[in-house]
Amino acid sequence: MFELKNILRENIKNLKPYSSARDEFQGEASVYLDANENAFGSPLEQNYNRYPDPMQYAVKKRLSDIKGVPPRNIFLGNGSDEAIDILFRSFCNPGTDNVILVPPTYGMYEVSANINDVETRKVNLTDEYQLNMEGIAEAIDKNTKLIFICSPNNPTGNSIHREDIETLLTNFNGLVVVDEAYINFSRQKTFIQELTEYANLVVLQTLSKAWGLAALRVGMAFASEEIIEVMNKVKPPYNVNEASQQLALQALQNVEQVNQWIKETLSERDQLVLNLKAFDFVLEIYPSDANFILVKTTDAKGIYNFLVSHGIIVRDRSKVELCEGALRFTIGTPEENKTLLNTLKEYQA
Ligand SMILES: *Cc1c(COP(=O)(O)O)cnc(C)c1O
Repeated sequence: MFELKNILRENIKNLKPYSSARDEFQGEASVYLDANENAFGSPLEQNYNRYPDPMQYAVKKRLSDIKGVPPRNIFLGNGSDEAIDILFRSFCNPGTDNVILVPPTYGMYEVSANINDVETRKVNLTDEYQLNMEGIAEAIDKNTKLIFICSPNNPTGNSIHREDIETLLTNFNGLVVVDEAYINFSRQKTFIQELTEYANLVVLQTLSKAWGLAALRVGMAFASEEIIEVMNKVKPPYNVNEASQQLALQALQNVEQVNQWIKETLSERDQLVLNLKAFDFVLEIYPSDANFILVKTTDAKGIYNFLVSHGIIVRDRSKVELCEGALRFTIGTPEENKTLLNTLKEYQA
């Protein structure tokens, strides 16, 4: 049976978190002399002299309305990369514990594991880019704390079978982290509605992709209240800055605009796939549930360099296991996609 106390690090269990001035007094007052801020203001049009809300309540409230998840089940980070790091720091003892990764997948899980001196056990995806369930079962031992599943997966673009993720959630006594950075582009439904079902589920999402706010660095984790409490205890007190909180809140009013872009991205993706199929040097285009496509080619390095020489940058994934010969194209504007196709027409394989 999964119990959070069994996987929590001892030092985190006993941690007395930093208590900021804004933690100790909450409410309305007219004179704030508690946080050593500059009382006069900021040398800017807008004032940023006051520390931001450490719990980002206004943003969470709005996200709660959009996602249908209570604010107490939401963690906000300086990008979802921060949430990934905080999961390691909360649950993995350096030098002892391990996590399961399923390559080819998002590179930050491994970097974060290495920074935290946590062993990674890699169980490659199958040829269809799905989970090797037997391999995962064999790799798990008593020190396995986290399994990272990216769905839709970066860089392959496909969604991972839902039943397989559910099997892990039911049988694994650590946390199953489902990274849904690309969920807005997917035909699959999100896992955030399953939080009440699975106490060991953590869902990651971000404002960096479909929401068009990569520069603001706002990422989300959705999980049980107990898990979110731990993450809040471990995070730096003011991890999401005031400018990002204000702008995220504004952006979250514009759901319509974002949905419009998603639709356009999907139709551009379909169009790009059709057009790419005509090229001799394209061997395979993998089905995508994301805003990018993985394309297997006869000469990834050559095509990459040719595109660079024409000012077009794509991602060369040809050195990644199971992605031999593959390039990853992010879907651009219609204009950008046309430029890509016209440039590729000039490439001689
Ligand atoms: C881009 C990406 C992220 C990064 O999210 P940030 O919120 O910008 O840190 C996380 N996971 C995956 C799979 C990504 O591709």
